Amino acid sequence: QENLFKKIVSHCKEYGFVFPSSEIYDGLGAVYDYGQNGVELKNNIKKYWWDSMTLLNENVVGIDSAVFMHPTIWKASGHVDAFNDPLIDNKESKKRYRADVLIEDHLAKFDEKVEKEVQKAKKRFGEAFDEAQYRSTSPKVLETLAQKDAIHERFAKALNDGDLNELRQIIIDCEIVCPISGTKNWTEVRQFNLMFATEMGSTADGAMKVYLRPETAQGIFVNYLNVQKSGRMKIPFGIAQIGKAFRNEIVARQFIFRMREFEQMEMQFFVRPGSELEWFEKWKETRMKWHQNLGFGAAKYRFHDHEKLAHYANAATDIEFEMPFGFKEVEGIHSRTDFDLSSHEQYSGKKLRYFDPELNDSYIPYVVETSIGVDRLFLSILSASYEEEALENGETRVVLKFPAPLAPVKLAVLPLVRKDGLPEVARKIIDELKYEFACQYDEKDSIGKRYRRQDAMGTPFCVTVDHETLTDNMVTIRYRDDMRQERVPISQLKEIIGAKVSM
Ligand code: ATP
Repeated sequence: QENLFKKIVSHCKEYGFVFPSSEIYDGLGAVYDYGQNGVELKNNIKKYWWDSMTLLNENVVGIDSAVFMHPTIWKASGHVDAFNDPLIDNKESKKRYRADVLIEDHLAKFDEKVEKEVQKAKKRFGEAFDEAQYRSTSPKVLETLAQKDAIHERFAKALNDGDLNELRQIIIDCEIVCPISGTKNWTEVRQFNLMFATEMGSTADGAMKVYLRPETAQGIFVNYLNVQKSGRMKIPFGIAQIGKAFRNEIVARQFIFRMREFEQMEMQFFVRPGSELEWFEKWKETRMKWHQNLGFGAAKYRFHDHEKLAHYANAATDIEFEMPFGFKEVEGIHSRTDFDLSSHEQYSGKKLRYFDPELNDSYIPYVVETSIGVDRLFLSILSASYEEEALENGETRVVLKFPAPLAPVKLAVLPLVRKDGLPEVARKIIDELKYEFACQYDEKDSIGKRYRRQDAMGTPFCVTVDHETLTDNMVTIRYRDDMRQERVPISQLKEIIGAKVSM
C-alpha cells in the first residue's frame, strides 16, 4: 500500500497533476502546485460540489469572502486561544512531532504487531492453521491488543482533559512496547497555534497584526445577515463558499492530504434553534450520498462520529475515505450551535439576530456545517481511480478511471498518421467539439502509445481518424475503461460523449 501511494505521488508529477511547490529551490514543506491536468480535475471537482449545493438546493447560495479578516474575528471564533496542536520534540533525533498524531501512529503499530504474529503463526502451522481461533486465543495477540486498548483509553482521557504531561508519558510508554523513534529523550508537550500571522498597513501606531484564515467558515458567519437581508432568505437557508485556508501544520507529510495552504468547500446551514440535530442527520445522509455518487463503491466510505466534541459543537461526524494509507477524514459535518454567531454578537457589539416571520420572534440561528477539503477529495478521487492493469499482450497499463464528468480531458482526437489530410480532419472535429468538452489533439508516436498516454491522464474517450474516415465520415471511438472500440459517424460524437460527461 505504501508502495502504491508512492506510485500515485510520482504519477501525479509525471502527468501534470501535482508538483512540489518551488521545486527548483528544493521545495517548500507541505505546499504543492497543481499542474495542467491537476487544475482541470480540481476545477471539475469544485464545480461538481458548487452545483450540487447551489443549483440543487434553492435555499443555498454562494459567497466569496476575503482571506484577510478583522483580527477580532479570530478572537471571537476561539482560534487565537484554542486553535492549537500539541507539539513534542525528540531531543536525540531533533525531530518534531504532533503528539496526538504520534500516538495514533503508535496505536497503528500495535495492530501491525498483531498482524506480524498472525503471519508468523500461519507460516509455522501451514495448512492446519485456524486464523480466527488463533486471533482470539493466542496469549501474545491478546496481550498486544490489551496494551493497545489501555493506551487508547489513556489517550482519549488525556485529550479530553487537555493533559499534556500525560500525552508525553503515553509516548514514552509506547516507545518501549512499540517503538517508532527508538529513543526516550523527549521535551515537554507544548501547544502550538496553527494560524499564520502577517501585518497589514502601516499606521503611526504600527501595523495591524492580521491572520491568514485557517477556515473559510468565519467569512460566512460574519456575512450571514448581509446575505439574508439582500437575498430575502428565510430560515432554513445555507451559504456555500470555496476558498483557500492556511494552517501552519506541524506534521508535513502525506502529500496533499495535509498541506499548509489548502482549499476548503464549506456550507453553513442556518436553522431554528432546536431543529439542528434533525438537520445534522439530514446533511449527514445527503453528503454521504453525494460522495457515493462518484461511483467508487460504498465500501470506500465510512462515518466516524466524534466522541469528543469541539468547544463549539453539539454533534460532529467525519466522512472518511479509504486512502492508500488507511481510512482518513475527507469531510467534517458539525452541528455548531449558535456558538459562532453569539460570540460575534458579543465581540462586535452588533445584533446578529434573525427575525422569523412565522414565529414572530427573533433569535440567533443555529448552524449545521459541511466542510470538505478540496485537496483531500482530489487525492481520494485520484487514488480510487488509479489502476495498474495487466494486458493480454503481457504489458501493463496505468489508467486513471475518473468519473467521466471529472476527467481533465474528455476527448483526445488522434490522426492515425501525420499526413494524407488526416490531421486536418482531426482538427476539424476538435473545432466542432471544443465548446462542448475539453479536447486534446495528439499526433506524436504510435497510436498504442497515444492511447496509453491518455489512459494515464484519465481521458475517457479517444477518437482515431484513419484513411477510411475521408470517405465514410466515420471514426473509431475507443473507451478508456474496457478499451472497447467501435466505429461511429463523426456527427454522433457530440451525443455519445455528451451523454457520459454531463454530471
Ligand atoms: P485534521 O484532524 O485532519 O487536521 P480537521 O478536523 O482539523 O482535520 P477541519 O478543521 O474539520 O479539519 O477542516 C475541514 C476539512 O478541511 C477537513 O475535513 C479536511 O478535508 C480539510 N483540511 C483540514 N486541514 C487540512 C490540511 N492541512 N490540508 C488539507 N486539507 C485540510
